[in-house]
Amino acid sequence: MLSYWEKTTLRQFDLIVVGGGIVGLFTALFYSKQHPKHRVAVLERGLFPEGASTKNAGFACFGSISELENDLKNLGHSEAASLVMSRYDGLQILRNELGDDRIQYQEVGGYEVCFDSPDEQRVEFFNNLIEPYLGQRPYSVVTKKGFGFSSKVDCLIRNKLEGTIHTGEMIAALQEKVSKAGVVSFTQTEVLQIDDYNQGKKVLVKTLGESVELIATQVALCTNAFSKRFMPEENIEPGRGMILLSKPNEAFNWKGSFHYHEGYNYFRTINNRLLIGGGRHLDREGESTLENGINKKIEDSLKSDLRMLFGAESHIEIDQAWSGIMAFGENKKPVIKRIDPHLVAGIRLGGMGVAIGAAVGKRLAGLLGA
Ligand SMILES: Cc1cc2nc3c(=O)[nH]c(=O)nc-3n(C[C@H](O)[C@H](O)[C@H](O)COP(=O)(O)OP(=O)(O)OC[C@H]3O[C@@H](n4cnc5c(N)ncnc54)[C@H](O)[C@@H]3O)c2cc1C
Repeated sequence: MLSYWEKTTLRQFDLIVVGGGIVGLFTALFYSKQHPKHRVAVLERGLFPEGASTKNAGFACFGSISELENDLKNLGHSEAASLVMSRYDGLQILRNELGDDRIQYQEVGGYEVCFDSPDEQRVEFFNNLIEPYLGQRPYSVVTKKGFGFSSKVDCLIRNKLEGTIHTGEMIAALQEKVSKAGVVSFTQTEVLQIDDYNQGKKVLVKTLGESVELIATQVALCTNAFSKRFMPEENIEPGRGMILLSKPNEAFNWKGSFHYHEGYNYFRTINNRLLIGGGRHLDREGESTLENGINKKIEDSLKSDLRMLFGAESHIEIDQAWSGIMAFGENKKPVIKRIDPHLVAGIRLGGMGVAIGAAVGKRLAGLLGA
């Protein structure tokens, strides 16, 4: 039962953002900058954001050559290049807003692992493709020295402009900034339903086992893979991603973000531990789920990859495993749109939300302000 104060003040907002991941938090932040006097709330069903934003690998990447090959086939020249630029620009927004030191951004290079010698002409082709947009030629073929690779690895294609962040620090910094901007964040608050109400929306939430109606002039859906209940017609496919983390090991004293199998698999180091993940392509059906969990087939394959990459004698011990849920669609572009006069959505970030999350939030806040 709500009190007079709750009914007349505390449950009323100018903007309610549903979803407390990277997109939801950046949407709230940019909107509050434009409308400092407006009351803004972020509603998150988990204690932490329970999707992908606190589960990811922290790659600050915008495109490896094998990934670009695919994009080029599916999208053509200018679309593929503009996809790369949107990721690159998104990373600049993230870094400017939160600061490199705070998010531990390190431009240590992105590396594509080559099991055969690469076609140098192809590397030059992609440098030529990217140069007019970035003003730089990011790709070069480098030796595999210094990373402890087995003889299975031939060499690496380096993208000098890519790097890594600390995902936990990034979300912590963002949560602090959003709070300083005056945004109220509610966790363990699941939105069940959104309906029209006077000149706005009423948002039915479940908290402490109770249902409560909140009122807002505008609502922003930032629920990524979990958006079907609000947008049943939208093309959104969930995709689970899995990560294994090794015990600390002095061999993992190098830095860099590494990809193989066209970007489906990846690894990096964090505090002398090796983080390896991906492999969704090995069981697309099984991984097309909204439930977290560990897929044994993929776990075994990642462990076997470790032996292949670093040699059977490397004895890498796994300490932790976790998963997160991403959202995919018919193409790699996020959905950023107004649904009705009081509802917008910024969803379907694919596997590149660290790179584009801040930019999607900025665009969504712009849509709300328009
Ligand atoms: C294992 C893994 C590794 C990844 N690695 C990288 C990487 O290295 N680099 C990179 O760029 N990207 C990476 N990604 C992708 C990136 O993490 C995502 O694209 C990004 O986090 C999506 O952000 P989001 O805010 O759109 O969605 P989410 O982070 O999923 O946020 C949506 C939020 O909405 C909440 N929510 C849903 N329904 C409701 C409801 N009804 N009521 C209230 N709250 C609700 C969810 O709990 C969730 O917290 C990775 C993803 C995974 C899973």
